[in-house]
Amino acid sequence: MNAHNGTSPATLTSALDIALAESVKTALPTTLGELGDLVRIPSVAWDGFDHALVQRSAEAIADLARGTGVFENVSISHARLPDSDELGQPAILATRPAKNGAPTVLLYAHHDVQPPGAEADWDTPAYEPTVIGDRLYGRGAADDKAGVMSHIAAIRALRDAAGEDFDLGLTLFIEGEEEFGSRSFANFLVQHRSELAADAIVVADSNNWDELTPALTVALRGNVTFRLTVRTLDHASHSGMFGGAVPDAMLATVRLLDTLWDEQGSVAVAGLISRDAQTPAYDEAQLRAETGLSEGVSPIGTGSILGRIWDKPSISITGIDAPSVQNASNTLIPAVSVRVSVRIAPGQDAEQAAEAIATHLRAHAPYGAQLSIDDVDTGSPFLVDTSHPLVAAAKQAMADAWQVAPVELGIGGSIPFIADLVREFPEAAILVTGVEDPHSRAHSPNESLHLGVFERSTLAEALLLGRLNESAGK
Ligand SMILES: [Zn+2]
Repeated sequence: MNAHNGTSPATLTSALDIALAESVKTALPTTLGELGDLVRIPSVAWDGFDHALVQRSAEAIADLARGTGVFENVSISHARLPDSDELGQPAILATRPAKNGAPTVLLYAHHDVQPPGAEADWDTPAYEPTVIGDRLYGRGAADDKAGVMSHIAAIRALRDAAGEDFDLGLTLFIEGEEEFGSRSFANFLVQHRSELAADAIVVADSNNWDELTPALTVALRGNVTFRLTVRTLDHASHSGMFGGAVPDAMLATVRLLDTLWDEQGSVAVAGLISRDAQTPAYDEAQLRAETGLSEGVSPIGTGSILGRIWDKPSISITGIDAPSVQNASNTLIPAVSVRVSVRIAPGQDAEQAAEAIATHLRAHAPYGAQLSIDDVDTGSPFLVDTSHPLVAAAKQAMADAWQVAPVELGIGGSIPFIADLVREFPEAAILVTGVEDPHSRAHSPNESLHLGVFERSTLAEALLLGRLNESAGK
């Protein structure tokens, strides 16, 4: 599984590593108690929910940040929403400048949560932290209040092991509206640029490979979505009268859309790139089970299954405006609109991808059909430069904390705010880690955190911080 990935785990032997591990372990019951207190605050940032609770959650986390005793400044701030005078939800920003040439690390997580959904779908109360077996259940227990607490616990471990006067620069940035589209995120980055500047940015909001195998998320696909309208007639007319002599818009649309894929269902648009990377083993049976692929239907694409999802483009038609079946009459349809949703490979520029798709569609419009493309939305993909020394340091810390080499993970979806981070801080190593595992059910009822994963992820972060701090003095 990790053939492409040279990191091998080493036993913790240095005094520093042992002290960090000891601190994380000893503090674990307290840390989990504090996590439970955060889960009890229903901090949903969506419209229509009580935003006083998001504020209360922010205050609780600001108190935790102050309580570490390592920050010079801890504040709660709101940035403006784009093109509006309205403010976004409260974020916590805690800073401590680096000393003696040490690097600065920015630790990101978010304290808002998804709405709970239907109460009846939960086996335990959504906002009552409940331990069953080796998992802690509750909304936000994993996504992402556990990310918040793993930062707090790692900072405390560093303080316990290295003393309060350590050299490492630290910034804690806990966002308050990630689940509501990170609307004020870009403005926050611009307003607080100098406080947020860092050599490494740890984004603790992703997944691990499984309960026993850590992962560093190194690739995220981007997206291009738009509405395509195909017109062939100025008005509808009787299909019996003129059918067979003039094309209806549905005929033109079906034939045009068909050019987007080849026989195997792979994307066939010139200019959309694929990335060449090794992927962990994942077989067709697993794909069938996870997607509910119907009996007798084959998968599409070529190459490794995860490579198709992580490293190649895909195109889906996700909506169509045309007469409904119930309202169908014997009419040549004059115009059809479809929503086209394109996932683009890591490494591709989103604007260029949008251009390539538009060029393809115009070149393939059958019968000279008139096309219009509007409502375009693009999101940049993300690709980590895994040769960055801080990426190597993060992977080694994971390997040593888990005693298993980490998987370099791709994600077929997007985390849009990461593109904002990359744009603002192109020099920083962006380390996308996380406390989730494939059973965490983030966003769903019965969300949970695996307690062993939490301890190992926290230790990995503590080792990274401790080692970066120590190496700076040498
Ligand atoms: Zn999250």
